[in-house]
Amino acid sequence: MSTPRRYRVKEIFGPTIQGEGLHAGSPCLFVRLAGCNAWDGRPQTRAASACPYCDTDFLGGEELTLDEILQRLAARRAPASASLGCVLSGGEPLLQADRALLAALGAAFPWVDIESNGTRPCPPRPANVALCCSPKEIAGQPIVVDPDWWKILVPAQERFLERALASGKPVFVQPLCPDEGPQGPAYAAALARCLELCYRHGCRLSLQLHKLIGVP
Ligand code: SF4
Repeated sequence: MSTPRRYRVKEIFGPTIQGEGLHAGSPCLFVRLAGCNAWDGRPQTRAASACPYCDTDFLGGEELTLDEILQRLAARRAPASASLGCVLSGGEPLLQADRALLAALGAAFPWVDIESNGTRPCPPRPANVALCCSPKEIAGQPIVVDPDWWKILVPAQERFLERALASGKPVFVQPLCPDEGPQGPAYAAALARCLELCYRHGCRLSLQLHKLIGVP
């Protein structure tokens, strides 16, 4: 018998609220896969990375099989609502996510959001597994996905706005959040710019609800 594949998982948590994108405000569980191709995750290299604003700890984690991931999700789900969704995040989840993982999550949840930087192809997935691309400018790693919606960080990744708008898919604009949280003059300026893009192009505002209400 072959050894089951293991995924490096940083954390599985919830129930919480999906704070961003099309399912913002919806209750969900989170699977955070470890590792990213935009930053090695060490504090001392963050400023020089492709994402000097990254707010996520995706270092380390533990090796879990698909069955173990599903068991941990199931334990957190009961007795929560059957409408609870699932967010597959990272780091960059498409460094590890394969067809089997996406199929299993799609079968276990009414909706699944994959949150990707768009530089890795997405394996085939069930219709209820959506791909959100928050594109990042990473040297030598172009955006290769055709996502279900885009999430553009403003102002850091505005260079991708034209491409996102041309795709005809929903485009969310999200103010870049400083380390101290959604406050202060830089945040206010980014929020004002997002509103301008909403009014001018029909973008939708994404506000990281989880940060506003203080949940993980
Ligand atoms: S792609 Fe996302 S998780 Fe990776 S370093 Fe950038 S912001 Fe962080």
